[in-house]
Amino acid sequence: MRKGLLFVLSGPSGVGKDTILKELLKTDLKITKCVTYTTRLPRPGEIDGVDYKFISLAKFEELKKDDALLEWAEVGGNLYATPRDFVERKLEEGEDVILKIDVQGAMKVKELFPDAILIFIAPPSLEVLAERMKKRGSPVEEIERRLKIASREMEMARDYQIVLVNDDLEKTVEKLYEIIKSKQGEVCGR
Ligand code: ADP
Ligand code: 5GP
Repeated sequence: MRKGLLFVLSGPSGVGKDTILKELLKTDLKITKCVTYTTRLPRPGEIDGVDYKFISLAKFEELKKDDALLEWAEVGGNLYATPRDFVERKLEEGEDVILKIDVQGAMKVKELFPDAILIFIAPPSLEVLAERMKKRGSPVEEIERRLKIASREMEMARDYQIVLVNDDLEKTVEKLYEIIKSKQGEVCGR
């Protein structure tokens, strides 16, 4: 049996990764999203176990100590990590997995899984990015902090195989769908 493919989706906070992923998962694409850990508080509407596994700093440290994290990173003062078990098991079982993680995490994953397919979602501009964060209900101080991080992250886009500008949501979802479908087709002619 073939091993699963690993897709990594990155891009600045507020660019639309979650929205894109949610739409993508409504399609007939055979792919599993990996729910990651975070120490940040849930935003309105976010559900534990669906959007993230929201955990305490103590629990995060425990998981790190137990080598249960495939990678971890600090982003904007909060900690985020990918569960090792889930990813390794799904890939072993032949399921394709998609990770929505930051640029530091993506580089680590690329080291561990050189065949991983890295996709960067870019905003049409930093102004548009700020608007989207506002729309999502992020506090002003957080928006300013995250915009600074975003400019640094945008420079990392050159290390990604694929860069998609999320201007029109529907078109971005369509393009991502086609990219994943074509990679899956390359492996086993599905
Ligand atoms: P991320 O997961 O990258 O942090 P979100 O998916 O939470 O970003 O999106 C941030 C905000 O931008 C949400 O309010 C979402 O509805 C909106 N959004 C996402 N994509 C687009 C788009 N193409 N055009 C306009 N608004 C968008
Ligand atoms: P947010 O707080 O906006 O949901 O996420 C902030 C950043 O952390 C985003 O770039 C998101 O993709 C990233 N992120 C989410 N989960 C993980 C993870 O498990 N590992 C890493 N490295 N980054 C993550």
